[in-house]
Amino acid sequence: MTEMAYDPDNIFAKILRGEISCNKVYEDDYALAFPDINPQAPTHVLIIPKGAYVSQDDFSENASDAEIAGFWRAVGSVARQLGVADSGYRFLANTGPDAHQEVMHFHVHLFAGRKLGPMLA
Ligand code: 5GP
Repeated sequence: MTEMAYDPDNIFAKILRGEISCNKVYEDDYALAFPDINPQAPTHVLIIPKGAYVSQDDFSENASDAEIAGFWRAVGSVARQLGVADSGYRFLANTGPDAHQEVMHFHVHLFAGRKLGPMLA
């Protein structure tokens, strides 16, 4: 994927800087998690890395091993903290135009709380 410049004024960057509020559900050195403003499931949480990465593509190529490990550990911690690790959940990272990525700061959606249906619409 062509490298896209990170826009420091994207909405999740503003949330990370505290310029826009969110109902924080988890935070550590590497990640922040908060409910999606337009939930698609009873539990719909966004997990974002603290570093400035546009997408999964950018993150996996350019983040340090510590950032990558810290972020994916945080995804698991969020699922356990939300109490959905046993009932089950789905995570999803829209990447680029074909996936309709809207916010250009890498994020993982975590969906849970009901039967989640087929993998793709
Ligand atoms: P994408 O299509 O980029 O994977 O999803 C972006 C998600 O961010 C959407 O599900 C949208 O509802 C959510 N979102 C956009 N703006 C805000 C916001 O200001 N606060 C929160 N909590 N979620 C947002």
